[in-house]
Amino acid sequence: MAQVEGSALVAQAIQREGITALFGLAGGPIQDIMGFAPHVGIRPIGVRHEQAATFAAAAYGYVKNQVGVAVLAAGPGVTNGVTGAHVAYDNCFPLLILGGSGPQRGRMTGTFQETENVPMFKGITKMAVQVDSIARIPEYMAMAFRKARTGRPGPVYLDLPSDVLQGAVEEEQVYWPSHYYTDAPPLGNPAHVKHAADLLRHAARPMLIVGKGVRWSEPTGELRTLVERLGMPFLTSPMGRGFIPDDHPLNFGAARSIMMRDADVILIVGSRLNWVFGFGRQFPADAKIIQIDIEPEEIGANRGVEVGIVGDAKAVLGQLLAELEGTAGLAQQAAAGPWLSALREQVEKNAAALAPLLEYNGTPIRTHRLLREVRDVFPRETIFTVDGQLTLAAGRQVLGSYTPASRLNSGSNGCMGVGVPFAVGAKLARPEVPVVSINGDCAFGFNAMELETAVRCRLPIVFIVNNNSGIVGSNLEARMGLPAGYAEHVATYIPDIRYDKILEAFGGHTEHVTDPDDLRPALERAYQATRAGHVACVNVISDHHETMATRSRRAGALMGYDRN
Ligand code: ADP
Repeated sequence: MAQVEGSALVAQAIQREGITALFGLAGGPIQDIMGFAPHVGIRPIGVRHEQAATFAAAAYGYVKNQVGVAVLAAGPGVTNGVTGAHVAYDNCFPLLILGGSGPQRGRMTGTFQETENVPMFKGITKMAVQVDSIARIPEYMAMAFRKARTGRPGPVYLDLPSDVLQGAVEEEQVYWPSHYYTDAPPLGNPAHVKHAADLLRHAARPMLIVGKGVRWSEPTGELRTLVERLGMPFLTSPMGRGFIPDDHPLNFGAARSIMMRDADVILIVGSRLNWVFGFGRQFPADAKIIQIDIEPEEIGANRGVEVGIVGDAKAVLGQLLAELEGTAGLAQQAAAGPWLSALREQVEKNAAALAPLLEYNGTPIRTHRLLREVRDVFPRETIFTVDGQLTLAAGRQVLGSYTPASRLNSGSNGCMGVGVPFAVGAKLARPEVPVVSINGDCAFGFNAMELETAVRCRLPIVFIVNNNSGIVGSNLEARMGLPAGYAEHVATYIPDIRYDKILEAFGGHTEHVTDPDDLRPALERAYQATRAGHVACVNVISDHHETMATRSRRAGALMGYDRN
């Protein structure tokens, strides 16, 4: 009888799930999973830090619409990946983290890298469990994939002791589950759908919020038909962009404040009323909320709803459209009505206020101008990963997204450091589209070594560093009564670091820009270099003193830091 190793069973289970890449740092005892992977058609991507493995895997899963897989070496390797679980949990991303651990038979004896991994992951995963036998590996893997991708997606942690991975069993002892989850998306309650349709049909000031939860069933046609049939304006969450193209005439994201202040019926699809939307308290008290979410416990969270529909976004939107058949005329009425006129007026005002920032030609370079050049150089299908503080905030205003899952950023918990590894995962998931990673210099620093991963793995990405030499807007000295210059030690870096030289060391196309007129040619050369298969890094020296004046205070209020 043939014997099969635990690591081989793990690789086979990943392959059976249809996954063709995994991310990790080849250490004990998980390195053999990375070794078996190519034998079953899986590309192992070796990263430089386990945090990056979990981020890249999460982005890979999001862009590819499947479960991302990260494998983490025991002990510190596993703890390095904890932030990835946290990010995946908070963003509802399906992610399988496979962590190594010491041998089961040596527990509590102080074996090398012995850690209680499972409790660490309990509060930030849908399931965290230790695999207790070699023969049961396929069963645990099936369980993990089902948990990660059905219902509200999320991360799962499987702990793999070294004697489970490195031991072997007779092949005939192994049971392989099949068809271990349903592919039937749950429909909504028909009475609730009908109620929602009635509210929308009779709304004077309806609006739609699209969140990144629509990623998993991708109801692009349904969303578009719905807004067009009703003449309903929409806005998106920061990552919910692109499922309806940003340049759709009913996208009124640029007038979000007044839309949220004045709407009378608000339809929310695949998004949460957490801090991002001011816990739903920015809507009028008498506004009627219709919420579609696959997770029953999300309905009514933070803000009461008129209609809560539990179901898959695409399935329920299909039902809603069927209920709204025969509403011809509503779109024309809306187009000429006061609601859209008021929003259009606001969009124009905001665009006029933004124009000088986009055109700003002074030196040092400012963020909006940099992003305008980025916007103008790269094609519509580009995937942007955006990370930082100022860069992230300005990116929302300037960069467009036009295709599903093409905008990734610091996400629901504002995790800095995701920009670089997210780009690695995104490029691997969709090699045919340009991937551009724009990072503030602080955010870039977290995972900058992954530029080496991109070069080694031939992932031609453009990395841009918006280099303003530190963390802007903290204003520590004035606020905390510190002597002038003190903050230099905590929030300001060595001025004008040549981050492009990092890529030079690995081999790639580099640009260093200090003059706004040089931005476009530098970005164009970087783009062309990636088309020729090279990784590019554009280091842009930007204004050290630029701030988004009110942002820190407002963001603090939105996040609820001042709630209690
Ligand atoms: P955003 O940050 O874009 O607002 P969130 O991550 O806060 O999005 O919320 C995403 C929501 O989408 C979650 O409440 C999740 O349960 C929900 N969701 C996930 N998959 C689906 C689906 N297939 N259909 C409907 N809702 C979904």
